[in-house]
Amino acid sequence: MRSVVATAFAAGLLAAQEAPTKSQSQSARSPLEITPPTAEWYDEALLDKAVAALVKRAEHHSGLQFDRLPRVRIANSQSWLAVVKRIQPKARDHKLAATLLLGLYQPGDGVLLSPVAGTALLEFERDPERRRMAFGRTVLVHELVHALQEQYFGLVTRRLAAKEFARKWVLKAMSEGHAYHVEACFAGADLQLADHARRMDRMHLRNRRNHYVQGRRFVANFLAMHGREKLHAALRHGPPTLAEFGRIANRKISAKSDCSK
Ligand SMILES: [Zn+2]
Repeated sequence: MRSVVATAFAAGLLAAQEAPTKSQSQSARSPLEITPPTAEWYDEALLDKAVAALVKRAEHHSGLQFDRLPRVRIANSQSWLAVVKRIQPKARDHKLAATLLLGLYQPGDGVLLSPVAGTALLEFERDPERRRMAFGRTVLVHELVHALQEQYFGLVTRRLAAKEFARKWVLKAMSEGHAYHVEACFAGADLQLADHARRMDRMHLRNRRNHYVQGRRFVANFLAMHGREKLHAALRHGPPTLAEFGRIANRKISAKSDCSK
């Protein structure tokens, strides 16, 4: 496909030998001991195909369009471990997990700009179980929205740069809430998983990721109250104060807050 680059780092296949063994990672539940993805995850054709389809869905449900398609790479096991330790310290195991590093393509030198990381399950068509397959796709859509947020609003950069606790928390909640909202719209409309958000809410709360849950409530209610254009303005110029954020997030989630706008 045009300028989406899906690159398997060749080094990853070699580096996998140095990674912790399966028995180590299962015994200790430590964030430092993680089963790396196996060679079959470094399949460029599968990744290309999935990304090409999901780019369109992420654009549709967010109302934003990529002006530069993101470079999508499957991390090698070393960068995977590094990213998981730094950004997702609670992530562990996962036989089937790979981390995607999503960044914005910088024409000319191909450097990743403001990389965004997320753990994705890339089962795709190989997985016979529909739920698992769907989960991998929803994670990819979620991460693509972060790339859109960066292109349009510089949101990821602002979030990472924020120092003051409340400001940082609200930026994080808006960023995750927006990506999660789009992810849930995609799950409901494209995968017929109407209960996606209900199931994911439980998982996020169990993992103490309250900002995802509160953030989605904020975004859904804000959309119902003010519409998409104003939401985008808030993502560009925000964040609101913590009190203002809470006032909107804590409203009873509106029946109007569907994905039709
Ligand atoms: Zn996210």
